[in-house]
Amino acid sequence: MKLPRQARRSGAASTRGERRVAILGAGFSGLCMAVRLAKAGIRSFTIYEKSDGVGGTWRDNSYPGAGCDIPSHLYSFSFDRRPDWSRHYALQPEILRYLDDCVDRFGLRSKIRFGVEIVGARFDDAEALWHLRTRSGETFTADVLVTGLGQLNRPSVPEIPGLEQFTGTAFHSARWDHSSDLAGKRVAVIGNGASAVQFVPRIAPDVARLHLFQRSANWILPRNDAAYSAIAQRIFRSLPALEWMHRAAIYWALETRFLAMQNRTGRWVAPLVERAAMAHLEAQVPDADVRAKLVPDYPLGCKRVLISDDFYPALARANVEVVTSPIERFVRDGVVTADRRHRPVDTLIFGTGFESLSFLAPLEIEGRHGVRLGDVWRDGAEAYLGTAVAGFPNLFILYGPNTNLGHNSIVFMVEAQVGWAVRCVEELFRRDAGWLDVRREAMDAYNRDLQERMLDTVWMAGCHNWYKTASGKVTNNWPRFTFRYWLEMRKARFDALAWGA
Ligand code: NAP
Repeated sequence: MKLPRQARRSGAASTRGERRVAILGAGFSGLCMAVRLAKAGIRSFTIYEKSDGVGGTWRDNSYPGAGCDIPSHLYSFSFDRRPDWSRHYALQPEILRYLDDCVDRFGLRSKIRFGVEIVGARFDDAEALWHLRTRSGETFTADVLVTGLGQLNRPSVPEIPGLEQFTGTAFHSARWDHSSDLAGKRVAVIGNGASAVQFVPRIAPDVARLHLFQRSANWILPRNDAAYSAIAQRIFRSLPALEWMHRAAIYWALETRFLAMQNRTGRWVAPLVERAAMAHLEAQVPDADVRAKLVPDYPLGCKRVLISDDFYPALARANVEVVTSPIERFVRDGVVTADRRHRPVDTLIFGTGFESLSFLAPLEIEGRHGVRLGDVWRDGAEAYLGTAVAGFPNLFILYGPNTNLGHNSIVFMVEAQVGWAVRCVEELFRRDAGWLDVRREAMDAYNRDLQERMLDTVWMAGCHNWYKTASGKVTNNWPRFTFRYWLEMRKARFDALAWGA
């Protein structure tokens, strides 16, 4: 059989028969991998998606006001830029539509198997194959396994006593109950993170009463969102170079935010940003008592800095109360706090974030010699370049350990990862090797250096955040400017890898 020219170059077909790549998840990461593989001439991949649609986190999070706090011209693929984003910060439906359109633009729909959740993956040394098992018991094999499961896909609901007694409606922000009409209801919102600051302003005008249970205040800066005019969209369409320059300007503006997050520069920069955040608070919340509750007690950047123009005004409403006394328990008809106050509510909304530290769970991954990834990561996840783990050959983890950011676009990080992963897959197939595996010494050296750099970041400060394990190891965030990661991924060759038959 005559192979297409690109496939011959990449070696996607070989003496081993057609080499297959399994991609888990049809969100930003999985789709990015698929497009880049196809561009490299490797079309023998399948995307397994547990739900019945694409979009990942942008499908799950459909709460009122859901949107991205990274401007859309940057929070989109560099190879699939759009001139006509409706506003600087697109809302969830527009981002989801973008991803859905992307699937058609790159002819990926037939490559996705919807409604298939992979729950187990085991690497067979002798065959150099990944054996995948679905929730319904089907099995598949693949030469290469790529996970695009995100870091924030499993909602976290805190273990507060009494939830089972509560007779009203309760749901998590990432599983918004759209059938629940909140108009005229008494609502408790637990948590005040990036999700809550988006949905609280949307629901506050409709509900009878909203109690916001806040454990710690956040640093909040103005969002300054605006729609793009039709003229701006037309200019971007006819002059793509201008759109590219706009994207680049956003990137570099966001990149400077990291100056506030590394201690060296943060000493000078963070106080300026803190002052801007306090001015924002003072301008938007006239009541001194409410304001006092909203002043953070930890250094700026230790938790994600939020951007919002309408959260503070929502908290200043007469029907909204900020509760700072910790929740002691839920009861049949409401919430009881440590100060013994009982607040009757009809609906509980958990804006309590995600189980961010147990990467890839509940997927069970078994590498060489039956070693489980969950065991290897018992003291905190780590990987080489945030992507590969020694002892788990032909596995690429997108948005993996230490690739999250507090200041710039994750899509940028994912594209950098995918670039390296695709080069590795091409080389694997070109060599007609059975497997590639990162050498343990290379992975350990990489992580020693990474954790040393971490010491200079604000995330190590004494605040509770979702980036850090109980023992204080930051497993989620990248501790440098993002262009450093991009450069590292571009420079990365194959010397850290071992190859086998
Ligand atoms: P989150 O930032 O982790 O916030 C969870 C909130 O729940 C925090 O306020 C936390 O308080 C509170 N909480 C947790 N357990 C609690 C308990 N037992 N009692 C009271 N409060 C409790 O979650 P999120 O808002 O869903 O956002 C998660 C991440 O998703 C963000 O950091 C961001 O990366 C991403 N996100 C992004 C966007 C975007 O625009 N791009 C939008 C939404 C989400 P403490 O602060 O005290 O821990």
